[in-house]
Amino acid sequence: MRIRREIENFKPYILDEPKGVIFLNKNENPFDLPEELKSKLLDSMRKIPFNRYPDIVANPLREKLAEFLGLGVERIVVGNGSDDLIPYFIKIFEGDKVVISSPTFKMYEFFARLEGAEVLDIPLDEDFEIVDLEKHVDNVRVVFICSPNNPTGNLQRREKILKVLETGVPVVIDEAYHEFASENYLDLLDDFDNLIILRTFSKAFGLAGIRIGYAVANEEIISTILKIRPPFAMSSLSMKIGELMMDNYEIVKERVRFIIEERERIRNIFSDITYPSETNFLLMDVPAYDFLLERGIVVRKMDGRLSGKIRVTVGRREENDAFISALKDFLG
Ligand code: PMP
Repeated sequence: MRIRREIENFKPYILDEPKGVIFLNKNENPFDLPEELKSKLLDSMRKIPFNRYPDIVANPLREKLAEFLGLGVERIVVGNGSDDLIPYFIKIFEGDKVVISSPTFKMYEFFARLEGAEVLDIPLDEDFEIVDLEKHVDNVRVVFICSPNNPTGNLQRREKILKVLETGVPVVIDEAYHEFASENYLDLLDDFDNLIILRTFSKAFGLAGIRIGYAVANEEIISTILKIRPPFAMSSLSMKIGELMMDNYEIVKERVRFIIEERERIRNIFSDITYPSETNFLLMDVPAYDFLLERGIVVRKMDGRLSGKIRVTVGRREENDAFISALKDFLG
């Protein structure tokens, strides 16, 4: 037995969770489902035959999403989290290079390397905006644009995205955090067959543990992904939970409103060290990772170009208060 040598260097995540009391490090929603919704859910789960396979391509959830988004079901594919779908955007197109703009979500590069693609990094500029990606489309398989971007928190501008789309090269816009943002690019799907919008139920929907993500694109892209995706990939249980959350979207909206309010509260207190954000987290220019950890508060420590900074997920009010008070102590 011999493990492929190049895999030894694959380590997208820190596998050991630091010890802490308050976790503001994974951009999760701080709120679980309301108790009464949870019991309703458990009742409806009793009716699911556990011995039977789920729908082969997760049609119940696709249909619900189609209705929720006002789009045809043939334009939607669902996955176990949005991470689960990223490899398919790298597998299905021709071309050698996968374009990313660092600092960004690490999994695009991870899966590109795993697929043996060449990674072309055109770094974000000093305002964390994408730079002339349309000038680098030769032999490009797919371009990943994260908007709003993790970990910097900013949206990418519509006019810059249009320029990339107009080249005809496949473009994935990862909108994992769009519910917290002032703009999204779903409407561009009408004009561009080369656009894929990737979204998740892990953030605004508060279902990180349930694992639901989806992509919307033209029918040819979706049917191609379905050709090579394992059958029965989505659990009957997670589909049910996703459907229920769409039926209760007002809860999602209310929590998004709260998180945005809290985000702006924290940002105003530390305005000189905090970047603007259109997400549920804040990038802060302060090397307080170890200090906060000693207080039991776990945030994300940034590296590379962002070293010395931290990324802090907006939590519940009392968690944010604890964070604010600890950071004030750090700053003296
Ligand atoms: N895209 C971005 C930009 C993310 O930040 C994350 C999670 N941190 C994901 C995708 C993956 O989320 P999930 O697999 O839970 O849908």
